[in-house]
Amino acid sequence: MPSRMGIRHLFSRPPPSKPSPWQANLPCVHSPADGCTHHNPHHSPIHFDPHLLPKNTNRDAPPAQRQPHQPAPRSAREPPQELFSALPRTPASGSLALLPHVHQTVPYSLAFYHVHGVMAQLRGGVRPQLSRLACAGMTGAGVRWVITPVISGGVLMLEYALAFAAEGGDWDVRACAHVRMGVKGGRARFERRVMGRREEWREGKEVEAVCCERCYTDAGLRLRTDGVVEVRIYKDLGQGLHPDDPKWSAAAKGVDLKRDTKDFGRMKGRFQELRAPEEERTGFDEAD
Ligand SMILES: [Zn+2]
Ligand SMILES: [Zn+2]
Repeated sequence: MPSRMGIRHLFSRPPPSKPSPWQANLPCVHSPADGCTHHNPHHSPIHFDPHLLPKNTNRDAPPAQRQPHQPAPRSAREPPQELFSALPRTPASGSLALLPHVHQTVPYSLAFYHVHGVMAQLRGGVRPQLSRLACAGMTGAGVRWVITPVISGGVLMLEYALAFAAEGGDWDVRACAHVRMGVKGGRARFERRVMGRREEWREGKEVEAVCCERCYTDAGLRLRTDGVVEVRIYKDLGQGLHPDDPKWSAAAKGVDLKRDTKDFGRMKGRFQELRAPEEERTGFDEAD
């Protein structure tokens, strides 16, 4: 039986500082009724915590194009998709750091806590909630976008599939901090920063693969004969153990690393393998 002193000591001591789980924003949510066509097709009220985003995130982007006259999809009748994190909820911790947008109008704000969350589920033997990170939509600027996450080889990979009309603007897609691609005057344009020098392409129709050697990004662009530009970007975001993970730091903060050229095309190849048996497959927890 503890002494009275002991009991008082026990109760006056602060509890061990283990952060309790907090509800996170979905990567497509930037306001209280925001969300992509997968997660919030009717722009219903949805969980939104403004403290998780930097103040001016997505402010300059036009609102997502609404999809009127569509029957409510199955997902709209289901409970809202929730996402939780137990990481420190402060900017200084690095948990809230975001992957830069690949196009200024594509409203996908993936944070480190998202990567950590699904990878922690995998490590804990729980089915990762990858569908929380799978978003799609059409921007007010006419960019159709689909983002597909998969876990492969112990890392989280993302595929961005963008499509837009070549006419109607000068398109500037930032595959990563080092690779830009787009269309200007009806011609496909590519630019890649490589170690120690700058390179630029002016190919007419497509570049099948532009692989970054300063971060884990593969990308490609195709100008179709019907005037539609298709862009694919693939990223390896690492194991999600710590915000200083070199792969995450390279992707989110542009901290350069040296990628072996033997690794070029790995992420693109992995998505192609996953799709091979079934074109519509979206990752191994698509039924979630
Ligand atoms: Zn979404
Ligand atoms: Zn890069």
